[in-house]
Amino acid sequence: MKEFSPDKAFWDLTFFYSSPDDAGLQVALTKASELAKQFRKSYYGRINSPAGTPAKLTHALQQYERLQLEVLKPYLYAQLLFYSDSSKPEHTRLVAQVREAWQAIHELTLFFELEILALDEAAYRALVQNAAVIPYAHYLNTVRAHAPYTQSESVEQALKRKDLSGKEAFVQLFDELTAGFSYRYQFPGEEKERETTGEELLSLIYHSDRTVRETAFATFLDKHAKNSLVLTSCFNNLLLDHGKEAELRDYPDLMTPTHLSSETDPEMVEQMLTVTEEHYPLAQEYFELKRQLLGLDKLKNTDLYAPVGKEARQYSFSEALDLVIDAFRGFSPEMAEIVERLVAEGKLDVTPRSGKSGGAFCMGLYPGADPYVLLNFTGSLRDVSTLAHELGHAVHYVLSGEQNFFHYHAPLPLAETASVFGEMLLTRALLESEPDRQTRISLLCTKIEEIIATTFRQTVLTRFELAAHTRRGQDLLAADEICDLWLSENAKLLGDGVEMIPSYRWGWSYISHFIHARFYCYSYVFGELLVLALYQKYRAEGASFVPEYMKILRAGGSVRPGALVEPLGIDLADPDFWAQGYGLVGELIDELKGLVEQKGES
Ligand SMILES: [Zn+2]
Repeated sequence: MKEFSPDKAFWDLTFFYSSPDDAGLQVALTKASELAKQFRKSYYGRINSPAGTPAKLTHALQQYERLQLEVLKPYLYAQLLFYSDSSKPEHTRLVAQVREAWQAIHELTLFFELEILALDEAAYRALVQNAAVIPYAHYLNTVRAHAPYTQSESVEQALKRKDLSGKEAFVQLFDELTAGFSYRYQFPGEEKERETTGEELLSLIYHSDRTVRETAFATFLDKHAKNSLVLTSCFNNLLLDHGKEAELRDYPDLMTPTHLSSETDPEMVEQMLTVTEEHYPLAQEYFELKRQLLGLDKLKNTDLYAPVGKEARQYSFSEALDLVIDAFRGFSPEMAEIVERLVAEGKLDVTPRSGKSGGAFCMGLYPGADPYVLLNFTGSLRDVSTLAHELGHAVHYVLSGEQNFFHYHAPLPLAETASVFGEMLLTRALLESEPDRQTRISLLCTKIEEIIATTFRQTVLTRFELAAHTRRGQDLLAADEICDLWLSENAKLLGDGVEMIPSYRWGWSYISHFIHARFYCYSYVFGELLVLALYQKYRAEGASFVPEYMKILRAGGSVRPGALVEPLGIDLADPDFWAQGYGLVGELIDELKGLVEQKGES
């Protein structure tokens, strides 16, 4: 095992600037602003015009890319500084400054996409078929997809302004209200109640003591129930806002804007959700197994993520990194080399500390610049899995760096492909090398629970959201109606075997996806099922599958998801494709059953 050098446990941000005071940063902002003004001067009114030649459009796209890169560098640097230490006022100040600069540039350049939208179809077709424009065609097509629903520039501008006191105001209210929530809770092993955060309470859902899991979650939810007036109002108004916008833009259905940005087909998504619902009994089979493993008479929803068996072992970061790199290498040496390079370059921030952002993420920058990964590694098995997840994202960003600026980011349904696949490689490698039966049970449970959370549960969330939007129509939904709707959608998945704790009525009220984006959750279902299917293919085809898979990652956001997986013989319109993923879940459950039945043998 190579020892991980502790000086590589922090981000090296000198790739951007030597410090927040680096003169280069202000120079970049000024230059970006000048380029944006120049861009407007050169192209405003000239894209959607008889003079809008392919050469002009190509040149505009290149200039657009140049100015975006100029502002992105300080912008991303400020974000990363803030995530690494939000307690420093100079970091907060810098974030505010770059955001303002970014916003100003956005306003100056907004006309560009609007003019592409306004082009008449024949003129657009002629432009996009030109050889010089073809490398940008996918981006242009995704912009154009909104054309049938776009209003005139003045209406669009008015809508955007009214959003500030409408939709965005409710989002802001929700964020500020819930960020200000503080809770009182007596933690296990502590003598009295103390103030705590929601995140800390929610993390107790993995605690080994059943009462702790239930009381912590109930404390969290009860705070939301006490604020039901505001939370219900935020939710209701966002439903109304979306309904009105759908009417105004004449969307064929409420999910249209999500389909447009996710590049998914409505029929395909509906099929995926239906197939998932048909497999709810599979989840229920697992819940029953979990009940037995925990030795309970009846499972509550707060027991679903309870640890099974003895305390899992702890991992040092060096060990964890070795495990992940080896698992990746077993699949593709290129993947392992990418990770080793990122570690050596100081692209990882490893352990928790005060002022550092919580959770974990991988931030992609732009083509030609390696991504940064933030972790809060504490040595648990879950943390090792998170490491595989984020490094999977990182590999994806490095490979999609072969695309141009416009096609660098994969669309939402593909954004979790490499991360979930990375986790799958790790789980399989661990299962194969782990001699201890109890640890293998625990590994399988964690994997199955993660799959249930990203497929079945996200389907429940999507169905609930859809039902709430449909039901809202012109009538306000009373808090109780929303709660009942939530419980009934959850009951379909949980079945008779799992009892929901009374406070779970309010489970809908803290899910920020419902507030920040419409119908975001189905992307998780898509991502997970796609990975399960890809993994099945890998098992069946072995090494010949590897380059095919890497090609998907290299494509970034240059191809629609459906077209991207077509060469692999995957047809997203075929219900059997989605069912296949659940075949693998069934196998994992059987594997777990086998281990459970071996009781007493090890
Ligand atoms: Zn992820």
